[in-house]
Amino acid sequence: MSKIEDALHRPLRDLRISITDRCNFRCRYCMPEEVFGPDYLFLPKDRMLTLPEMERLTRIFVSLGVEKIRITGGEPLLRKDIGEIISLIRHIEGVKDIAVTTNGSLLKQRAKELKEAGLKRITVSLDSLNEERFGAMNGREFPVKGILEGIDAAASEGLKVKVNMVVQKGVNDQDIVPMAAYFKEKGHILRFIEFMDVGNSNGWNLQHVVPSKQIIEIIHQVMPLVPAESNYYGEVASRYYYQGSTDEIGLISSVTQAFCGTCTRARLSAEGHLYTCLFTSAKTDLLGALRSGSSDEELKELITEVWSQRQDRYSELRSELTEAMPKVEMSHIGG
Ligand code: SAM
Ligand code: SF4
Ligand code: SF4
Repeated sequence: MSKIEDALHRPLRDLRISITDRCNFRCRYCMPEEVFGPDYLFLPKDRMLTLPEMERLTRIFVSLGVEKIRITGGEPLLRKDIGEIISLIRHIEGVKDIAVTTNGSLLKQRAKELKEAGLKRITVSLDSLNEERFGAMNGREFPVKGILEGIDAAASEGLKVKVNMVVQKGVNDQDIVPMAAYFKEKGHILRFIEFMDVGNSNGWNLQHVVPSKQIIEIIHQVMPLVPAESNYYGEVASRYYYQGSTDEIGLISSVTQAFCGTCTRARLSAEGHLYTCLFTSAKTDLLGALRSGSSDEELKELITEVWSQRQDRYSELRSELTEAMPKVEMSHIGG
C-alpha cells in the first residue's frame, strides 16, 4: 500500500461515498424545496457508479491509505441495494471501519437489513424533538416519532448509534437541552454541528450560527460537562463527558474552530466525481476515467496527483474572514 499526502501533509484516510443525490426530505439548510422542487433533475441511473465501479474505486482509495468509509447521500436508505453496498465495501481488505449517515426516516424498516449486511455503527440526523420545528426543518412534516423509532430499531439490532443535530440560531437552539437530556438518557452520543455555508442555496449567514462554545455553556448550566481527550488524529468532534459519567456529547465546530489542518477526507459523489473539500466546486471525474478504460494503476496515479496537489482549507479561511467581519463593520462607523 502506498500512502499519500496532500500539499499540506495531510494523509488520505477517509472516504465519504454519496450513493444517491436524491432525498425524501427537504431540509432547509441542505435541499430547500424552492431549489430542489418537482422539476429538479436528479442523476439518471446510467450516470451513477454501479456497484462494481464503486467497489473498484474504493479498493483503489484503500490502496492509497483510506481506512474509514462513510456511506452518505442524499438519503442513502432510499437505495434498495444499500445492504449489498455495505457488504461489498466491508469485505475490501484494508477497510477498518464503515458507517452510514441517514436521516433515519426509513431506519425502522431497514435496521435489520443493515445489521445483517455487517454494519456496526450508524449516524442519524435529527434536529429537534419538537414536532412543529422538526417538521418545518425537514421540509416534509416528517414526524419526530418516525426517527426515534428508527433509532430504537437500530439500537436494538445492536448498532452503535450517534445522533447529529445541526443547530441554527432562532430555528432550533431551544432544542439543545431537551435533545441532550433525551439522548443522554437513551445512551446515544449526540453531536452538535454548527450550521455551515455549504452549497449556494441555504441562505447561510454567520448570525444563524450558534458557536459550539455557546452550546457547551447552555448545556453546562443544566448538566455539568467536563472536556474529554480526543480519540485519534483527525477527530472532527471535540468531546465532553457529563460530569460523573461516561456519557458524552460531541461538537463539530466547522465554523468557529475549523479543523482543516487534520482533514483527511476525500469525497466521492454518486456520479463518481472526486472532491477534496466539502466547499470546493473543483472535481475530478473518476467515473469518466474508469469508463474510458483507465487501468487501476492509471486511476491510482490520477487520485495521487489530485490529492498531492490538495491545498483546501476553506473553513480556516472562512474563519479568518468572519473574524475580520466586525473590523469591517467598525470601519463603517469610522473605527
Ligand atoms: N441524508 C442524510 C442525513 O441527513 O443524515 C445524509 C446526508 S446529509 C447531507 C449529511 C449531514 O450533513 C447531516 O447530518 C446533515 O444534518 C448535515 N448537513 C447538511 N447541511 C448542513 C449545513 N448547511 N450545515 C451543517 N450540516 C449540514
Ligand atoms: Fe436530505 Fe440529509 Fe440533506 Fe436533509 S440533510 S435534505 S435529510 S440529504
Ligand atoms: Fe476539510 Fe474542506 Fe472542511 Fe476544511 S473546509 S475541514 S479542508 S472539508
